[in-house]
Amino acid sequence: MKQINKIYINGEFVTPNGTETFDLINPTNNEKTGEVVLGNEVDTRMAIAAAKKAFTAFSKTTKEERISLLQKLHKAVSKREDELVSVMVNEYGGTLQFCRMSVQNAISAFTTTITTLESYDFEKTVGHSKIRFESLGVVGIITPWNASNSFICNKLATAIAAGCTAVIKPSEMSAAQTQLLTECFHEAGLPAGIFNIVNGLGNVVGAEITQHPDIAKISFTGSTLTGKAIAKGAVDTMKRVTLELGGKSPNIILEDADLEKAIPMAVFGAYMNNGQACIAPTRLLVPQNRLNEVNELAKKAAEQVKVGNPNEADTLVGPMVSTKQFERVQSYIRLGQEEGATLLAGGEGKPEGLESGNFVKATIFTNVRNDMRIAQEEIFGPVLSIIPYNNEEEAVAIANDTTYGLAAYISSSDKEHAERIAAQIDAGRICINGFSHDPYAPFGGFKQSGIGREYGVFGLEAYLEPKTILA
Ligand code: NDP
Repeated sequence: MKQINKIYINGEFVTPNGTETFDLINPTNNEKTGEVVLGNEVDTRMAIAAAKKAFTAFSKTTKEERISLLQKLHKAVSKREDELVSVMVNEYGGTLQFCRMSVQNAISAFTTTITTLESYDFEKTVGHSKIRFESLGVVGIITPWNASNSFICNKLATAIAAGCTAVIKPSEMSAAQTQLLTECFHEAGLPAGIFNIVNGLGNVVGAEITQHPDIAKISFTGSTLTGKAIAKGAVDTMKRVTLELGGKSPNIILEDADLEKAIPMAVFGAYMNNGQACIAPTRLLVPQNRLNEVNELAKKAAEQVKVGNPNEADTLVGPMVSTKQFERVQSYIRLGQEEGATLLAGGEGKPEGLESGNFVKATIFTNVRNDMRIAQEEIFGPVLSIIPYNNEEEAVAIANDTTYGLAAYISSSDKEHAERIAAQIDAGRICINGFSHDPYAPFGGFKQSGIGREYGVFGLEAYLEPKTILA
């Protein structure tokens, strides 16, 4: 049984003041694997005080000094790559394929941030003024469970590049992953207080970070509901916020797309990270006159999806992170049927032989109307909605008829055609013919998918305050 009973403050593993515990449950079989002791408000305040003290010296460091720290972090995290993958698979239930990629993203966050930092100029001339880009202060980093270490590494790397210190509150459901990552960070030997990590509940540790006057900025990834609560709380002390929230991303299959290629890709894409991905293309928009063909191809693709043990290399969908998340996804599968959508594949209940874990069948609804709740709300499980459209104008209207705007996907045999459609879509990231990632390009949402951008120069500047000097 794993006992995680330390948090990390001022360069040391310390026993938290909080005594409440949280059970760690293996999502593949729902057996208890350990316990984590949760930090409380007192722990959070101590972490903030340590970060505040460290900020005075750290904000004055040079670019070269920060690059050297990022290199040390990169080396320490890289060394334990295989362990990081294995702990993530077993604790979270992400598939081996996904967790490998996620840990690689976590590791490369340090190198891509170094590249951004190397060419970044902290002083610029604008008009006849000198602009200094200064470190914002102590940053609160609040992260969810669906790619925990990758979120932490990216946000911390950017904070360090900007000369900010950090207090990190991960999801308590990711405690084993956090523990291993913290050991890596500790091994990197950074000066005390630059980063502090407090396990604990959102409404305790997260709320304290949100209200505390010594936190200058919050970088949050998670649900839109929590993002709104954080933004409301943050405004009292005028904290800067970067909010990376939910999505209900459209995947538009244009008339000229190769369906044989595009449809299986769309189905597998919707199930990325077991469907627990903010950028998942969960609304598949297809020409009405090709609907039968699409249904056939989609059903065939879903039937090929292996749901099961995330440790097996060919598994595409592992268990949901928790029974709560499993129930939530089940309730949406029921809702889809009640709303009158046609169940094309999967459905309620667990796949045969997988009754003890939080497994959901690879599910597809077709004949979905965009005003149905299954097309409007983030389900966060392997559930795809196929929505027919009559013409391109209608496809664009449906794509944009959502409160979200994180990502969008377009398939077409003509790149320029796809780009013309992309120009009309309200989303922060649009991928044409696939699912690519660019760690230097801004990432974040339009509308209720968030505020601000991460990655590259846009991400870095979100941790800096411009100061204009007129002489
Ligand atoms: P949350 O948004 O509630 O959690 C994300 C992080 O915020 C966690 O560390 C959480 O802590 C913390 N938090 C919760 N409440 C507060 C608060 N009041 N102040 C500060 N921090 C807080 O996501 P859930 O885990 O509850 O997931 C619910 C749904 O959100 C999912 O089903 C999915 O639809 C969506 N989601 C979207 C994600 C995305 O990447 N866009 C990621 C995760 C979820 P704690 O764990 O203690 O609650």
